[in-house]
Amino acid sequence: MQAETPDQKLRARAARVIPGGMFGHLNANRLPEGYPQFFERGDGCHLWDVNGRRYVDFMCSWGPIVLGHHHPAVTEAVQRQMAAGDCLNGPSERLVELAERLVRLLPHADWAMFSKNGTDATTTCVTLARAASGRRKILVAQGAYHGAIPWCTPNPLGVTAEDRTHLLTFTYNDVASLETAVQRAGDDLAGILVSAFRHDYGFDQELPDPLFTRRVRELCDATNAALIVDDVRAGFRMTLRGSWDLVGVQPDLSAWSKAIANGHALAAVTGNDRYRDAASKIFVTGSFWCSAVSMAAAVATLDELERNDGPARMRAMGQRLRDGIAAQAAAVGIGVRQSGPPQMPTLLFDDDADFAKGDLFTREALKRGVYLHPRHNMFLSTAHTEADIDFALEATKAAFDVVAAR
Ligand code: PMP
Repeated sequence: MQAETPDQKLRARAARVIPGGMFGHLNANRLPEGYPQFFERGDGCHLWDVNGRRYVDFMCSWGPIVLGHHHPAVTEAVQRQMAAGDCLNGPSERLVELAERLVRLLPHADWAMFSKNGTDATTTCVTLARAASGRRKILVAQGAYHGAIPWCTPNPLGVTAEDRTHLLTFTYNDVASLETAVQRAGDDLAGILVSAFRHDYGFDQELPDPLFTRRVRELCDATNAALIVDDVRAGFRMTLRGSWDLVGVQPDLSAWSKAIANGHALAAVTGNDRYRDAASKIFVTGSFWCSAVSMAAAVATLDELERNDGPARMRAMGQRLRDGIAAQAAAVGIGVRQSGPPQMPTLLFDDDADFAKGDLFTREALKRGVYLHPRHNMFLSTAHTEADIDFALEATKAAFDVVAAR
């Protein structure tokens, strides 16, 4: 009998005390066989599992790691703040510093508020849209992910219809469906909530069509409803000015988390002056929402991203990966689709409804030390170098050969 690996042993222990062995989307059972569940450490763009295997990491903790794991400038800021204090009776100076930083960086923002998870931030935006307007309806794109509590979770288990009574859907990038939803909301429209771009699980990603983004802005202006951009996943990877700045549209409210503090738990809502009064009146709080360490991490993270033009670096490395993969796929005659911004690539195979090709491909890459995802968008960090991308491309070349041989 083969000896159990540390990952297998941990999974067996977890199965007894953690429902399902692991909750949520990070359950490794949702990934192809061979993917580890448990990790030991990270450094730069590398990640080690508990079996001691090293990977070039293209998930970046599902987004938060934007400068690379264990970034020295962030670690230093964290240690300095940790020595002074983290969870105090109220916020530290870091709160004001960080809010000032966001207001300076984001053209739409006149103020900022902080919490812990992306879901906190999207929920606060929805609450603010309703508080400011006194109306109830929120428009969301069909299939878009905005968090994991009853009003927005994609899993209906444990959720009542009433939790979503005031949500109406439209199709991302489809102006006609948006206009229909606005009409249906009538004079009860509080806000339109849109992702930075369409990044639904298991589908090709779609960048926002400027005709669509402009129409969202016009409809919000005409009805006095809030335009809310959910920048939780995409924020600070494509630009430091807010993702819809790239299409020339400024939101009223934005939700942030993931990359903002390079892996430290922090979320933010930013807004313009139309929403300042409501933002000062709604009741939003949490035991750990003033945590100074994550705010110190965020200031350091934004410093680094600004100083090194992080989005441009990630774009260049993502493009190198994309070009290499496109050439490899063409060389073996396999049809693939690479979508989304190069910093957040999705790779899907043609004629692969059950994801069998994608699963085989990513398993083969994993065996060769490259951690990809077969269905979800992936993430680049500023720690990925040309050498790391070229290492990854050696693995993907071999993985394509295995797929072609099948
Ligand atoms: N919005 C988007 C676009 C997200 O990608 C996520 C997280 N994947 C969330 C909201 C929710 O963030 P969190 O998991 O931190 O609550």
